Amino acid sequence: MAEFLARLRRLYARMDADYAAAAAGSGFVCNGCEESCCRTRFYHHTRIEAVCLRAAFGRLPAEERKRIRRLAEEWRAGGAARVRPLCPLNREGRCRLYDARPMICRLHGIPHALAPPGRPAQESPGCEEFDRRCRGIPHRRLDRTPLYTELARLENEFQQALRASGRFKQTIADMLLAERPIA
Ligand code: SF4
Ligand code: SF4
Repeated sequence: MAEFLARLRRLYARMDADYAAAAAGSGFVCNGCEESCCRTRFYHHTRIEAVCLRAAFGRLPAEERKRIRRLAEEWRAGGAARVRPLCPLNREGRCRLYDARPMICRLHGIPHALAPPGRPAQESPGCEEFDRRCRGIPHRRLDRTPLYTELARLENEFQQALRASGRFKQTIADMLLAERPIA
């Protein structure tokens, strides 16, 4: 387990570095915004990231965990709308588990490209705040392909080690409220 988590931490460091390098050209820095992406109903598909997040959650003080779990329950009770209240981990604009936040939270915001094997390559824009502040400034797209590929490889090996099967699909609230260990 420790080895898998160490590999994930190295991959997260690489994601952060690639993101910073791609964002540097436009000068974009995320300082939060009204439409915050922390309101988006993102699904996460890797067990290894869920294990990492839950381990970090377990290190928070008990009172804080209780408060966050209550928010997660309210968040889940909100139904299936794509745009929701802020993620239960967002406190006053800051992520309470910033170092352990999942991949999509790390890579959101700047224009990016993805070329999955056997599927057409895609290019996607940045967030609305990026567009407002950086429209017209030459910038480089973040290539997510090697990062997704490495995470998929890691997840695959982790699942084999666990002998886990079946698709994994959870929101942050699901991970925080899961009764049983993910691994
Ligand atoms: S990445 Fe964009 S949408 Fe998300 S909080 Fe930052 S500025 Fe807002
Ligand atoms: S895990 Fe952190 S960065 Fe991701 S949506 Fe929640 S508060 Fe935002």
